[in-house]
Amino acid sequence: MSQARGGSSAAETAAHVVVVGGGLAGLAAAAALVTAGCRVTVLESRRKVGGRAASYEDPVSGGLVDACQHVAMGCCTNFLDLCQRTGLTDALRRDRTLWFIGPDGDRSRCTPSRWLPAPLHLAPLLFGMRHFSMGEKLALARGMLRIARLRSEDRTDTATALEWLRAVGQPERVIHLFWQPVVESALGESIDLVSVRAVRKVVVDGFLAHRDAADLIVPTEPLGRLFGDRLVRWLEAAGVVVTTSAAVTAVERDDRGRVVGVCCHGDVVACDAVVLAVPWKAAGRLVPDLVTAADERVVGSPITAVHLWFDRAVVDLPHAVLVGRVSQWVFREDQATGGPPGSHGHCQVVISASRGVMGGDRTALVDAVVAELRDVFPAAREAVLMEAKVVTDPTAVLSVRPGVDAVRPPARTPVANLFLAGDWTATGWPSTMEGAIRSGRTAADAVAAHVGHPNRCLVPDLVKNPLVRLLVGG
Ligand SMILES: Cc1cc2nc3c(=O)[nH]c(=O)nc-3n(C[C@H](O)[C@H](O)[C@H](O)COP(=O)(O)OP(=O)(O)OC[C@H]3O[C@@H](n4cnc5c(N)ncnc54)[C@H](O)[C@@H]3O)c2cc1C
Repeated sequence: MSQARGGSSAAETAAHVVVVGGGLAGLAAAAALVTAGCRVTVLESRRKVGGRAASYEDPVSGGLVDACQHVAMGCCTNFLDLCQRTGLTDALRRDRTLWFIGPDGDRSRCTPSRWLPAPLHLAPLLFGMRHFSMGEKLALARGMLRIARLRSEDRTDTATALEWLRAVGQPERVIHLFWQPVVESALGESIDLVSVRAVRKVVVDGFLAHRDAADLIVPTEPLGRLFGDRLVRWLEAAGVVVTTSAAVTAVERDDRGRVVGVCCHGDVVACDAVVLAVPWKAAGRLVPDLVTAADERVVGSPITAVHLWFDRAVVDLPHAVLVGRVSQWVFREDQATGGPPGSHGHCQVVISASRGVMGGDRTALVDAVVAELRDVFPAAREAVLMEAKVVTDPTAVLSVRPGVDAVRPPARTPVANLFLAGDWTATGWPSTMEGAIRSGRTAADAVAAHVGHPNRCLVPDLVKNPLVRLLVGG
C-alpha cells in the first residue's frame, strides 16, 4: 500500500473523515472536507486515483493516453469550480463551436450567439446545421421548446425519449441525426432506453439555460495527469492523506450501528465519519443493508473509445459530431499521447451506448471507423494507420432509464455518520464528471454539518434569465 502524507494543517482534534474511493466523487468530497477543516484520508483500491476519469500508460512510448476522451460543458458549474479552486483551469480549453458532419460529409459550424439572450442564443447553432431542411430545423426547435416545457407532473420518468419524440411528431431524420447523437453523447445511453426526464435535463441545462451552457470544456492534459497527479498534489498540500492500492474490505460499525472505521489490509482505520464514494456494486458489497446492488433498475451503459494512430495528423477539426454513422464524436488529440514511433496523428472516436456495435467485432469496428474518417477527412485517405486500440467500459455510466431516479440514493443514509457519493447517487444529474463532483460535494456538506464544521461548497447552476425561467420554470 503506497501512502503519501500531505501537510499537517488539519488540527489533530479535527474530525477524521475517511473517503473510500478516489474517483472524482471521492476527490471532490476530500477537497471540500479539508476546506471545511476536517482531517481527511482517501483510500483508493487502484494504483492511481481518478477512477473512470483515468489514463493508461502506452507501453511503446510511455506516454499517457486517456482510456476515453472526457469532456464537460459550460453548465458543469461544480466541475469548473473544482478545477478553478485546485488550480487546474490552465489545462481546460473552452470551445464554443460544435462541428457537425452530416451523412454526406457536409460540415456545419454551429456556434451559439454571444449576444442574443438565452434561449435565443441557440438559433445560430440550430439553424446552422446544413444537413437539415428549414422544416426540419423548425421541427427541432419546436421539439426542444416542447421538452423544456415539460413538468414533472407530465410523468417524464415513465416514457423513453424515443417514445416521446415520436409521440410529439419529431421527424425521423431529426431523431436520427440530432437527438440520437446528441442525447447518446450527453447521457451515454441510447434514446430508446433513456427517460424523457434525463433528456429534458440535457436540453435545459446543457443548451437553453444560458449563453455559455453548451460550451465544450476539453481537458488539454491527460486525465491521469490532471486528476491523478495535479489534483492529488493539491489535496496533499492541503493536508489530505491520499493512499492508493488500499482496497477497503469492510465498514466497521458499533453496537448502535454507527460507523467506527473501515477495514483495509487487515487494519481498522478509525474515523468519525465515512464517505463511501465507490461504484454502486462496490457500495452494495460494503453496506448491503443500505445499498441494494442487485436492483435491476440500476444498470450500466457501455462507452467505447477507438484510438487510432496514423503516420500523420488526419483530423483538421478539434472535434466533430459525426451524425448518421457508427462513429459519434471524433477528437483530435492535442496532447502528446502514446503510440508507435513515427505516429503523430492520434485521434479518438467515441461511441456511446456501444452495446453490440458491429456485433462486438473489434477488427470490423476499427475498419468501419477508419473508413468513416477517410470519408470525411481528406488527409486520412493518404495516411497510414500505424496502430489501433479499442477500449470499452461495459458499465461506463449509469443508464438513466425511466424509473432509475426513484432508486438513486441520497448522500445521507440511515446511519448518521455514513454518507454516499458517486455519479450513480441522487444528484439530479446524469452520470458524468459534474454528477460525480456534485455528489462528492453534497456528501461533504452533509458530513461537515454532522461533525460540526458547517460548510457549503456545492455551487449553483448557471443563472437563468427571466425569459428562460418563463419558458422552463424555476
Ligand atoms: C468510457 C467513459 C467515457 C466517459 N465520458 C465522459 C465524458 O465525456 N464526460 C463526463 O462528464 N463523464 C464521462 N464519463 C463518466 C465519468 O467518468 C464518471 O461519471 C465519473 O468519473 C465517475 O466518478 P465517481 O467518482 O463517481 O466513480 P469512479 O470514477 O468509478 O470512482 C470510484 C473509485 O472507487 C474505487 N473503489 C472501488 N471499490 C473500492 C474499495 N473497496 N476500496 C477503495 N476504493 C474502491 C475505484 O477504484 C474508483 O477509483 C465517462 C466514463 C467512461 C467510463
